[in-house]
Amino acid sequence: MTKNVRVRFAPSPTGSLHIGGARTALFNLLFARHNGGTFILRIEDTDTERSREESVAQIIRSMKWLGLDWDEGPDKGGNYGPYFQSQRLELYRKEAERLIEEGKAYYCYCTPEELASRREAMLKAGKAPRYEGICRNLSEEERKKYEAEGRKPAIRLKVPQEGETIVEDIIRGTVVFENSVLDDFIIMKSNGMPTYNFACVVDDHAMGITHVIRAEEHLSNTPKQIQVYKALGYEIPEFAHVPMILAPDRSKLSKRHGATSVEEFRDQGYLPQAIINYLTLLGWSPPDGEEILSMEKAIKEFSLERVNKTAAIYDVKKLTWL
Ligand code: GLU
Repeated sequence: MTKNVRVRFAPSPTGSLHIGGARTALFNLLFARHNGGTFILRIEDTDTERSREESVAQIIRSMKWLGLDWDEGPDKGGNYGPYFQSQRLELYRKEAERLIEEGKAYYCYCTPEELASRREAMLKAGKAPRYEGICRNLSEEERKKYEAEGRKPAIRLKVPQEGETIVEDIIRGTVVFENSVLDDFIIMKSNGMPTYNFACVVDDHAMGITHVIRAEEHLSNTPKQIQVYKALGYEIPEFAHVPMILAPDRSKLSKRHGATSVEEFRDQGYLPQAIINYLTLLGWSPPDGEEILSMEKAIKEFSLERVNKTAAIYDVKKLTWL
């Protein structure tokens, strides 16, 4: 690999660190270490209603306990804190304004009530709800009228309706999305905060991320993010979407399947090495099929090509105290 690998774990602090998130963080770290690259922790806390300081503290505590140390942060003192999106709002605003100036995004004055009633009407008519570009071509006069009414605009990206967006995924292969399923989605909310898809792209570019390794649930966000990359004129990174973790009965993992948060494991007396060993093998296998792996061995052997393409099955009974 010629590029200087840079990866990130980017949790939203809306709860404690669960095994899914811990595994994503671990795979990022293993990939970075294997390639002599850099691993970054970025807290995605722009959703002010759902973000909790307590969750930030829990996530950091869990990562430290597991030995998932990141390599960089805003305070360059050797003991780095994570990056916080809430401290980078100027950057998102600047990039959104650039898109407006370049005619690639526009102010949208539709209120949540108006959007909800149009959504309802579309559903009633048997159509998939989407934003139909009502504010795409507002005249200066119309804008002024809305401003005078005191409406605060959101900013939407102009998304092409024809053609397709292709995601080349290291784990999943080529995934094709029809652009007709996308609409002019919001990049900045009317309260001045960026949406996930926008802030994520602006930061992944600003932080020089070369490989986006994250949970499969974000695969459907990737075509939107690729549209943002294209509009901003950024180079598109490599993507690797890691398959889900399911319960033994293949249902969605929940409390009834036993402990699922890292802090619960710690409180039950598990050793961090046991959790790391278990998570390493949850959807990945070393070439020699070994089942007891140190972090060093996992770093030496790790590759995204050996991540399974199908869901991993989580079985708490297979966790040992080691
Ligand atoms: N904040 C997102 C999450 O917690 C991160 C997604 C990503 O890695 O891009 O799911």
